[in-house]
Amino acid sequence: MSKKFNGPAIGIDLGTTYSCVAVWQSQNNRAEIIHNEQGNRTTPSFVAFTDDQRLIDDAAKNQAASNPANTVFDAKRLIGRKYSDSVIQNDIKLWPFKVVAGTDDKPQILVKYKGEEKRFCAEEISSMVLTKMREIAEKFLGLPVKNAVVTVPVYFNDSQRKATKDAGLIAGLNVMRIINEPTAAALAYGLQKRADCADERNIFIFDLGGGTFDVSLLTIKNNVFDVKATAGDTHLGGEDFDNRMVNHFVMEFKTKHQKDMSRNPRALRRLRTACERAKRTLSFDTEATVEIDAIYEGIDFHSSITRAKFEQLNVDLFKKCLETVESCLIDSKIDKSSVDDVVLVGGSSRIPKVQQLLQEFFKSKELCASINPDEAVAYGAAVQAALLSEGTMDSLNLVLRDVTPLSLGILTKGDVMNVEIPRNTSIPVKKTNDYFTVEDDQSTISFKVYEGERLKASENNLLGLFNFAVPPAPKGHIPVKVTFSIDLDGILNVSAKEETRGNKQEITITNEEGRLSSDDVQRMIQEAEFFKAEDMKHMNKVKAMNALDDYLYNMRKVMKDDSVASMLTSIDKMKINSAMIKGKHLIEGKQNQDAFVFVDFLKELESTFESTLNKVNKSYFDEDSDSD
Ligand code: AMP
Repeated sequence: MSKKFNGPAIGIDLGTTYSCVAVWQSQNNRAEIIHNEQGNRTTPSFVAFTDDQRLIDDAAKNQAASNPANTVFDAKRLIGRKYSDSVIQNDIKLWPFKVVAGTDDKPQILVKYKGEEKRFCAEEISSMVLTKMREIAEKFLGLPVKNAVVTVPVYFNDSQRKATKDAGLIAGLNVMRIINEPTAAALAYGLQKRADCADERNIFIFDLGGGTFDVSLLTIKNNVFDVKATAGDTHLGGEDFDNRMVNHFVMEFKTKHQKDMSRNPRALRRLRTACERAKRTLSFDTEATVEIDAIYEGIDFHSSITRAKFEQLNVDLFKKCLETVESCLIDSKIDKSSVDDVVLVGGSSRIPKVQQLLQEFFKSKELCASINPDEAVAYGAAVQAALLSEGTMDSLNLVLRDVTPLSLGILTKGDVMNVEIPRNTSIPVKKTNDYFTVEDDQSTISFKVYEGERLKASENNLLGLFNFAVPPAPKGHIPVKVTFSIDLDGILNVSAKEETRGNKQEITITNEEGRLSSDDVQRMIQEAEFFKAEDMKHMNKVKAMNALDDYLYNMRKVMKDDSVASMLTSIDKMKINSAMIKGKHLIEGKQNQDAFVFVDFLKELESTFESTLNKVNKSYFDEDSDSD
């Protein structure tokens, strides 16, 4: 293994709907899933903006129904994609927050923060979630954390992987490695199974999450994890099942009440939350109810849905999952009868119909549910992080060989994609090929690099293009050596070189279009610092306000005590009452004050009140603080 990193390193599963963080604990010889401040082991990938603060995690999700336009989620569905992408255009119709086109067709999320309009790209929102996950880990470890392994869906393309790395950079993290989610889950599973893996075992990972679906076939033998094939869909998961149920109930409401709530973000948000809950219920019950008071124009909505209806609404999506399973097996050249374990990962793999279809497909093979589907990916990421860190897991000596999910190639004459690296090739990989001029005295060769599986290049995803100058010569005489290399993060670099007649040029193309420039990243890092400072400022203010509020509460209690009141002069009482009124006003007018105003006023109050009370020789607060 190459260079190792120093300092604590964490594994982050950056999910569409929920994220999870874990760290390897050498003393226990296992990874620990770290719970957040609310005690939850997964954290909603939600960021919200209000008039006075920014919220991340459960706090953001919990206020989503009352602040839908400024509560952002699904950044993973936006990251690395273009605004004009049909996937984004369809999602926009469902999101309660606003997304507009920025420069280079890059989507921008529009929100109101502290009364002002702000624009964020998906990398920034994801960086906020990553920052939260880092803070959760730092609190647990009691140490600052810089290094992380972040997971991505297998089918994330080059832009999406790079954009995820940029999000890490903005969050101040050194992303040691980007790994594929099912590969991470396989690491978690394989580590548990190591004792049984002296013989080669074929493991099939079925990972159906909130927004993405990935499958992977690996062979594990001793300590070598070899990914044979992967397949997936970056836009299929629990949210799609929720959406189907939402549409079903919107129609039902329309039929019952002749009212269309489909353009009301608050109603939709509340309905979506109720549908997600109902969907989870249907994983263990055959019927679930949905009850929302005053959902739209004051009308209550009470209804129910059976498991059979839910399955009928989603049957095409469930079947799509199986097609992907089949294509992965074909690519791996391993027959389904040779698969030893089918491992379920991702919250949506709990859906009974999905399990039933999968079990039938694998001819009644028992599905493995021995690893926690919500946590396996973060667990595996933590294992990978430990493997890359100095002194953490040196004795384990695991080897992980992943593959590239999409074919990569160059446009040649007639719109044909000449594949240089076929999908499911082990990474890292480097491949060089010669390209020639097609006309006499041609002065430049244009190279267009694509990823995808279609024969026609234009139907694949264009990653980048460059023009390469060549000396004049008859056609086919000047060879230009083009090298494709994919690193361990699955990120591509293409370079070209021409050495005839002593002419040597080298160009490296990276897929920069729509990507953040280093200036952008620097600016966003500074903005992230600004947000952190603002969050701290807000927290300090809330702390100071609460301290003042508590003190005023105690003052009121003391003043109600007749034995105290009878000993105070009317001037003392007036002084104390007017200080209490001033304190109350200060708290009620909270928007405009800094923390120090509350802190200073509390000090002033304490000195006034306590010096007055000293006169009657009482120390009430000591007693109160015990009894409250
Ligand atoms: P993940 O991305 O793996 O955290 O998966 C989150 C998705 O799993 C969300 O769409 C959840 O609604 C879904 N999910 C979690 N638990 C269940 C369950 N018991 N039944 C159905 N879906 C679930």
